Amino acid sequence: MTRSLYDLDPGQLEALVAEAGEPPYRARQLVHWLDDRRQPDPRAMTNLPRSLRARLSERFAETGLALDQHQAGDDGWTHKFLFRLPGGDAVESVLMLYPPAGSRPEDDWEGGPRGRATVCISSQAGCAMGCTFCATGQFGFTRHLSAGEIVEQVARVSTLLPELRPGPGAPDHLTNVVFMGMGEPFANQDATWGAAYRLHQGFGLSARAITISTVGLVPGIRRAAAEPLPVNLAVSIHAADDATRDLLVPVNRTWPIAALLEAVRDYVAATRRRVSFEYALMDGVNDDLDQARKLGRLLAPLRVPHSGGHAAHVNLIPYNPTPGTGFSPPSKSAVRRFRETVAASGVPVSVRANRGVGIDAACGQLRTTAGRPGRRVLPLAEPG
Ligand code: SF4
Repeated sequence: MTRSLYDLDPGQLEALVAEAGEPPYRARQLVHWLDDRRQPDPRAMTNLPRSLRARLSERFAETGLALDQHQAGDDGWTHKFLFRLPGGDAVESVLMLYPPAGSRPEDDWEGGPRGRATVCISSQAGCAMGCTFCATGQFGFTRHLSAGEIVEQVARVSTLLPELRPGPGAPDHLTNVVFMGMGEPFANQDATWGAAYRLHQGFGLSARAITISTVGLVPGIRRAAAEPLPVNLAVSIHAADDATRDLLVPVNRTWPIAALLEAVRDYVAATRRRVSFEYALMDGVNDDLDQARKLGRLLAPLRVPHSGGHAAHVNLIPYNPTPGTGFSPPSKSAVRRFRETVAASGVPVSVRANRGVGIDAACGQLRTTAGRPGRRVLPLAEPG
């Protein structure tokens, strides 16, 4: 079943235009709109004949993503989107804009290098992993996204970006994509990799501008080690011992920390690439110095072959409050001490400041609260 125009390969697009009685070069024009212009809406493809645009719009009216809600936070530097899928499910994407160096020194958005525009995309509607701190995890799993639906999130956010820039200094095009939204990308591996290759080959994003984040699915990490596309790998670790991690990340009972780190070691040995470890700090749960010391001991031995440099980089993320989970953010002093303790082990570590705290920025929250009265939802026209 075609779920998005981005699910069609060039041969299928050629067949589509041939069916409409159009010459093959129309398929190349279509690819140009879809990939180079990142425009998923046939109505906006102005150099196609009106009859073909109408035919495509009608044929694909029931497919693709429809923008349902948009929230802006951080003075317009963070934007969260809820896209409705055919059949009524919904997924979230988040656009994070980072000012160029020196332009807004009051913003310390560490972990988000200057001048970037990063979109965080979903790989599934809902998620079966059941992480206890996560709004999406509370929902359960609805369905996998197709590769085209994953790519279309990037296309739609790219198209919307120019009108959302908070000022002339803000980036005007997407620079990075992270698979860190709703869902576990390695539970939907074929679509995830299909999307990653399309973003690289079609959209022209460098592999190093693409990051796939997993909560620790070992078979997925092993496949990532074997894939030719050298994207970045991020592992959400969130705890440094199995007892604590079992409470937060149920998949740890299938692949405990030792199995996870063995897969990461093999990945680093095969690829010589560094791995990011995401650690959401929660007050009184995993923010004590014992966890910090254990984390340092676990990750310090991970080294890039030959260079000998550290292969792990820890991103500490103060927990974004999520109603109904029972978890709360750590104190500033706990974050500072945790960071200093990890750093003392020699492992590179940074703190990622929360984005969009004033909006439903935690993963899955916008979908959870969609329709709740009093949300700051901005009208935003779809192109076309
Ligand atoms: S944190 Fe990620 S893997 Fe865990 S339930 Fe949420 S979306 Fe799924």
